Amino acid sequence: MSSASAAIETPVLIVGGGSVGLALASELGGRGVPCLVLEQNDKPADHPRATALNARSMEFMRRWGVADAVREAAAPEDFPHTALYCTALDGYEIARLERPNHGGRKAQATSPEQAQRCNQIWLDPILCAHVQSLPSIDLRFCWRFEELREDGDHVVATVRDLTQDRQHHVIAQYVIDCSGGHSPIRRAFGITMSGSPHIGYHLSIYVRAPALWTHHDKGKAALINFVEPTGLWRNMVTLDGRELYRFGVRGKEYYDDPDRVDAERLFTEVVGKNVPHEIMSVRRWTARNVVADTYRVGSRIFLAGDAAHLNHPASGLGLNTGLGDATNIGWKLHAVLAGWGGPMLLDSYESERRPVGIRNISHAESSNSNDRNQKPPLEIADDTPAGEKARREMGDRISKGMTRKFVTDGLALGYRYAPSSICWDDGTPPPPDSVSDYAQTSYPGSRAPHAWLSDGRSTIDVFGPGFTLLRFGDKAPPTTAIEHGFSQRDVPLVVLNVTDPEVGALYERALVLVRPDGHVAWRSDTLPPDALALVDRVRGAGEDHTTTTPHRGATHDEAAGVDR
Ligand SMILES: Cc1cc2nc3c(=O)[nH]c(=O)nc-3n(C[C@H](O)[C@H](O)[C@H](O)COP(=O)(O)OP(=O)(O)OC[C@H]3O[C@@H](n4cnc5c(N)ncnc54)[C@H](O)[C@@H]3O)c2cc1C
Repeated sequence: MSSASAAIETPVLIVGGGSVGLALASELGGRGVPCLVLEQNDKPADHPRATALNARSMEFMRRWGVADAVREAAAPEDFPHTALYCTALDGYEIARLERPNHGGRKAQATSPEQAQRCNQIWLDPILCAHVQSLPSIDLRFCWRFEELREDGDHVVATVRDLTQDRQHHVIAQYVIDCSGGHSPIRRAFGITMSGSPHIGYHLSIYVRAPALWTHHDKGKAALINFVEPTGLWRNMVTLDGRELYRFGVRGKEYYDDPDRVDAERLFTEVVGKNVPHEIMSVRRWTARNVVADTYRVGSRIFLAGDAAHLNHPASGLGLNTGLGDATNIGWKLHAVLAGWGGPMLLDSYESERRPVGIRNISHAESSNSNDRNQKPPLEIADDTPAGEKARREMGDRISKGMTRKFVTDGLALGYRYAPSSICWDDGTPPPPDSVSDYAQTSYPGSRAPHAWLSDGRSTIDVFGPGFTLLRFGDKAPPTTAIEHGFSQRDVPLVVLNVTDPEVGALYERALVLVRPDGHVAWRSDTLPPDALALVDRVRGAGEDHTTTTPHRGATHDEAAGVDR
């Protein structure tokens, strides 16, 4: 029999200890904010889902001090991130897309990190161990969230300790719903999601097949898509680069009755022969491209990760988008709880993150419909001149259409919060918005550029937990007035003088103010006319200037900018 017991009090309750809940706990715990994380399962999930971590997500891992662990858990450094299209592993190759900027340890020009392939079955335990090492975090497995109500200046959640079958109440100032696609909170509050709710029914088959590449002539590839006369409905994702794969099959008939699916046969068909292998687990899932119509309920409950947006995994964006949510709301919660965050700071979570969710979902929608709409000719696998022609034409189509699907540096690093109520628009034209290409810029709202500093750190490494004011060169104005404004409002600020002219050129202005999440809040060649107005703006206590251009550096040389 269950019974209720005394309430647990916490500033922040995180519902769900999946990747996004753990990421948020890392952000909050890194800042010393106490929080309670409840996860209904007894351990991290052990069936593979997300594998592709983009460079921005790796920058977050770097901030939490787990980037090396993630790289070590990922596929070996030399494992190619190739996306291969073929009729079968013993059949014909149709197209091959290389992704040289992914994997390994070599930094890119635009980031101190590279995209990695580390599945959630390894990532979540890494994040879990990290979170457990943070004194302010209380992570509890086998605890299920049940109900929630906002009650004036706090929220009361009803939760259950599943091991004891005992109900408890949690009194929190804020609740962050990281409970994934089936979010009980989103459902309980009737938050609708817009987009395409059913775009495919799938089976995910977890397979062990040691050194599979030694049994065929296609070499190693991270992603293998099978192009068959019946369409593109099977694929294989390399997990550890040694022996583990996620074999995907699309079709309602498989989804409806997974127990009757002959996974052995489906796998052996695409390999083309019987090779040593073991089917480890089978799960079904529905592909959707949807975004919640709001990311918040009242003033104290917020949605993040899959609870807020779901997209087809073909473009590897779901988890990466969720990690961005966590880093955005993390510093804002800290600021509000510490007393220096203004009354509008938490409002900016939805206005900044929901457009990113919509942008990423729309990319997932277009690249997945591209896959779904591919209709291979019937002769695609035939050993005939017609078959050869069909493969050549299909390969050309795939190479042209799919590069945009797999090369998404613009989505990974180029998303920006503009307009934003807490960034200061300087009136310059926004840089191009591209899915594939990314050029570093200090345009307000953008991720602040990466450059190596003379002490060997990346600029990315110096941002947070408060604001960072970068001052470039001797001619930059003294920053005393700004520092005074920050100290008047008790907002943490570090001023960093950077003498390297190349870094200065990259940052485009003499003074650049960077938020705790590494996005540019303000930039100028001159001091702001009212330093306190600037501080209030960036801490969420100022007027909303999203439609105005109140301040612009008088000596700014537009031609020198890289924002076009
Ligand atoms: C086949 C597949 C492949 C994918 N590949 C990629 C990829 O390559 N790249 C990418 O970026 N994304 C990918 N994704 C998406 C990615 O897996 C998700 O976006 C990611 O897991 C979202 O993390 P989350 O923490 O928001 O949700 P989840 O990982 O779903 O975690 C939610 C957690 O909340 C817990 N929970 C739920 N309800 C309660 C409750 N009432 N009480 C307590 N706990 C609760 C759950 O048990 C769960 O642990 C893929 C998804 C699938 C299905």
